[in-house]
Amino acid sequence: MIRSVEDLGEFGLIEQLRRYQRSRPGLFVGIGDDAAVLAGPLGYRTLFTVDMLVEGIHFFPDADPYALGRKAMAVNLSDIAAMGGTPTFATVGLGVPGGTSAERIERLYAGMSDEAAAFGASITGGDTVEAPVLLISVALLGEVEEQRLLLRRGARVGDRVCVTHRIGEAAAGLLLLQRPDLKVPEDTRTRLVHKLLRPTPRVEAGRELGRGLATAAIDLSDGLAGDLHRLCKASRVGAIIDAASLPIPDDVRRVAAAAGLDPLELAIGGGEDYELLFTTSSLTGGSHVLPRSGTPYTVIGEIVDEERGVLLREPGGGLRPLPEGGFQHF
Ligand SMILES: [Mg+2]
Repeated sequence: MIRSVEDLGEFGLIEQLRRYQRSRPGLFVGIGDDAAVLAGPLGYRTLFTVDMLVEGIHFFPDADPYALGRKAMAVNLSDIAAMGGTPTFATVGLGVPGGTSAERIERLYAGMSDEAAAFGASITGGDTVEAPVLLISVALLGEVEEQRLLLRRGARVGDRVCVTHRIGEAAAGLLLLQRPDLKVPEDTRTRLVHKLLRPTPRVEAGRELGRGLATAAIDLSDGLAGDLHRLCKASRVGAIIDAASLPIPDDVRRVAAAAGLDPLELAIGGGEDYELLFTTSSLTGGSHVLPRSGTPYTVIGEIVDEERGVLLREPGGGLRPLPEGGFQHF
């Protein structure tokens, strides 16, 4: 039977493609983390990641090109952050529909360049071709001291599970774009839509976590549920997430209430927050901020044996499986 890409799903497809990865001297970690880990200068590893954004799938055709450029770069920077790394050099592949104004592409590039520069990185080349819709592919290199590399696979039973800043904001912002009829205060709408369109990669926090604070990390691109499953799978552990402890801001609760949703759906199932999900055996959560960068974080659960799976402790205290696809009401 011929299986379609839809049947396999994104992660099934990645599993199928993994077999084409050949081992080679200098390859330390390949497919299956936020970035590949390659040999680097003495004492360092080189990180390598790529992401692609497609008009109509990942952004609306009327998206502001400058903001879009910033986001296209930010999502890559976020993957380097999740490895504890410092971003260095990017190349940009663009597919551009005929008739696109040169100004639009220049604004897009300006956004990418400014976002890279904000984190010390530089665009060093690329390729532009004609395409039916706007396509943006950014490949990004980074570097990290060998001892400070963060992987998905380092979580151990008893570690605390933590997340930086807040979650659910991007999902709430997306919902507001899809449902302009939802009645929420204007500043709530502005703030949440901004969170969706202009995510902040947590590069400084990732650097700090790599200094022995975190045992494993991943960035939240696909939602807490899916990304936690990936971290747990890589570490061969399970986890219990405490619903009552999740850092869900009031803005997100307001949007959920207006839409008749449980805020947990946005916080656990929604993607694109680009916060760091990490595990730690040293941080207790008592101070609520990382000591050097002052990044706020919240302890949201604990790592348990793999056999227990990934569970959600509901506000009432009951435990239920947390499916990879996120939170759904029965
Ligand atoms: Mg990632």
